[in-house]
Amino acid sequence: MNIQTVLDHLRGRDDQALFAEAEAVKHAVFGRQVYLRGIVEFSSHCCKRCLYCGLRAPNARAVRYRLPPERVVQAALLAPELGLGTVVLQSGDDYSYDVRTLCDMVRAIKDRSTLAVTLSLGDRPLDELARLRDSGADRYLIKLETTDPGLYARLRPGERLEDRLARVEALRRLGYEVGSGIIVGLPGMTGDILARDVLRLAELDLDMLAAGPFVPHPQTPLGGEPCGGLETTLRVTALLRILSPRSNIPATSALNSLPGAGAGPDARARGLHAGCNVIMPSLTPGDVRRGYEIYPGKNVVEAGARQVVSQVRAAIHQEGFVPSAAPGFAPRSTNAAGTARSQAGRGHCGGQERGQVVAD
Ligand code: SF4
Repeated sequence: MNIQTVLDHLRGRDDQALFAEAEAVKHAVFGRQVYLRGIVEFSSHCCKRCLYCGLRAPNARAVRYRLPPERVVQAALLAPELGLGTVVLQSGDDYSYDVRTLCDMVRAIKDRSTLAVTLSLGDRPLDELARLRDSGADRYLIKLETTDPGLYARLRPGERLEDRLARVEALRRLGYEVGSGIIVGLPGMTGDILARDVLRLAELDLDMLAAGPFVPHPQTPLGGEPCGGLETTLRVTALLRILSPRSNIPATSALNSLPGAGAGPDARARGLHAGCNVIMPSLTPGDVRRGYEIYPGKNVVEAGARQVVSQVRAAIHQEGFVPSAAPGFAPRSTNAAGTARSQAGRGHCGGQERGQVVAD
């Protein structure tokens, strides 16, 4: 697909055909399965200053919390009880958890479950990422937000796109499944930049891709900027699905948080029809969950984890899909990454992928 075609689609040329193709492509690879991944947001502390994020270090009004390791493991182990095959451990860039503590958490989860473990911990040093991989971590999420070097540097002070891209490659070499993504409608993101982001993400050949809309946080320098567009975000999602048929693509929680007509839970449901095959309900304990406010509207649900998962299940069924308890390794990497893992003597549970569908 060339950039002009992407631009035309982003402007809304024949949405019906675009979404129909994305859904057909997804169906051919994943059938009606939607993978559920429980996410435990265990620390809202971050040393970075990304202009778009409510957790940025200079935000003195952010609610900060850190969960002790035993609570992280306890929250993660709710996942198999609730029929989820993956847990995602996520935090800001918070180096108060040393690598040994993080490895112990990963090992405790792997020893006591068959869960796939995804990490989203920011820019940890490479030797730490290797130790975490050796402890059993399967995947790593590292967002780009944009692949435009100038915009990236403006929005992430002190950071360089080339360093982030190098980290993506390093994670891949370590044998992780690697996921990344962009924020649609970031201030300063032109249509041309967005179109190039779509093509670049696809070129990176990742296991997971995500596109969420920009939702301004009032306690950040970008608090007065407009939201990213729902329709544009769905078009980006559909394009990513068509360009990367075998990658996992989540319907992001940011879709749920967009204000305005057509947004909310309906928006996430629309994501499932635009090519998404993953939903990530929060398993973060209710007493701290609201503190993980990357953008307003995230984690506002008062319900406990059981109720959240049950509501997500019902919504998936309502859209004609089936929640899956499989770990949900990307089919593009199950063979290649699985071989790499077994050669390295590391565990992986890709063998449970097929037919493990929750019947409820
Ligand atoms: Fe920290 Fe991530 Fe927020 Fe940046 S986007 S301030 S690295 S939590």
